[in-house]
Amino acid sequence: MSTLKAVRGTRDLLPPETALWNRIETTARQVFARYNFGEIRTPIFEDTSLFARSVGEETDIVSKEMYTWEDRARAQSEKPQSLTLRPENTAGVVRAYIEHKLGETGQLQKLFYIGPQFRRERPQKGRYRQFWQIGAEAIGPPSAGSESPLRDAEILEMLATFLDELGIAGWTLELNSVGSAADRARYNDTLRAALVPLAPQMCVDCQRRAVTNPLRVLDCKVPEDQPIIETLPKIGDSLGQESIDHFAAVTAALQAAGVPYHLNPRLVRGLDYYTRTTFEFTHGGLGAQNALLGGGRYDGLSESIGGPKAPGIGFAMGLDRLVLTLQAKEADQSSAPPQGAKADAYIAPLGESLNAPALTLARELRRAGFRIELGDGSFRLKKSFEAADKTARHIVILGEDELQSGILTVKDFASGLQTKVPRAELPSMLAKPMAQ
Ligand code: AMP
Repeated sequence: MSTLKAVRGTRDLLPPETALWNRIETTARQVFARYNFGEIRTPIFEDTSLFARSVGEETDIVSKEMYTWEDRARAQSEKPQSLTLRPENTAGVVRAYIEHKLGETGQLQKLFYIGPQFRRERPQKGRYRQFWQIGAEAIGPPSAGSESPLRDAEILEMLATFLDELGIAGWTLELNSVGSAADRARYNDTLRAALVPLAPQMCVDCQRRAVTNPLRVLDCKVPEDQPIIETLPKIGDSLGQESIDHFAAVTAALQAAGVPYHLNPRLVRGLDYYTRTTFEFTHGGLGAQNALLGGGRYDGLSESIGGPKAPGIGFAMGLDRLVLTLQAKEADQSSAPPQGAKADAYIAPLGESLNAPALTLARELRRAGFRIELGDGSFRLKKSFEAADKTARHIVILGEDELQSGILTVKDFASGLQTKVPRAELPSMLAKPMAQ
């Protein structure tokens, strides 16, 4: 019989590692709340055309990596529909913004999300087929200030604060502008012309992109194509005055706020919806998959999927990569293995007739906020001690005598001391900090 395993590119996240995932998510929620972002949760699958129309048909994500299926109709009133597991969350958020008419509030919508995304990529360290993103979007009608360069700078400053509070040092903010839709169209024409003599020497994907969507040639990862890509015109030379001024205001605000950045004229990001500011935060400790997060403006995205004018800016961070970065840092800092948090007490009932009273005691202590591991009356005392020593700071022995007298036997593993404790005093004893 074959054994079933998690599908290639997917993984189980187990304790104690999940505690680190939770810490990152909690820090994100706390930091984003200070910038007045609220949480949005969108469905994990969407109509396929949402991604085709926003991310772009020629992108790697849409052309190669999506998990798409034809959903059968269950009733005559339903039509079969092409559905896709979301490969990213911005398109879903903007779809929700349009569907719920959030623009009609006249306010800037500041929304964050945390959840899994799906791409059929070649798995390697830091790259999975199911991965988690934490992201945020600031989107709204132009009258709400959604186009302001201050929004870009504020989001970037928030990200710098988040990474600093998480304890991730040594990040680099790579910054560029890909200009307005008109600038990009002009740049695409320039690239198309420049690629006419070069494309025949490039990979088949680039030969196709050189005609259909030349900007995507810059995403090519084929090593032999890189020297050719280096010679191509840069997008910065195609920017109109408005885009230049917008970008200058973003960088000026970043300088004023003291957020360091590095200009990278090749940063165009692998999604079609980006306009003007684009960015990535990279980290040297990650190896080949060195992008911790990426994002940018998407001023025309809402219109491209049938919505009102709603400029916006957002980002998505790879939670898997934040975890890898923090794990590497923690491994560096101490040679001792990280301690999974131990329970406050292990309750050991001495005999099966004491199982029910033990559950009652555990319930009392848990309701008082303690972390309790509950043993089993069928265990010998030696086995209870061994199990307790591995999982808890104390063992509380509950025998017939203890039950009758209300005086419990408690051993503190750190000090090795065993004492008799009246049941009413147990909470204050367990609340004492761990002996060093
Ligand atoms: P993107 O918008 O595609 O650049 O994705 C934003 C961020 O999500 C990246 O910077 C990565 O941190 C993370 N990410 C993207 N794809 C994957 C993947 N296949 N596995 C793990 N993390 C990913």
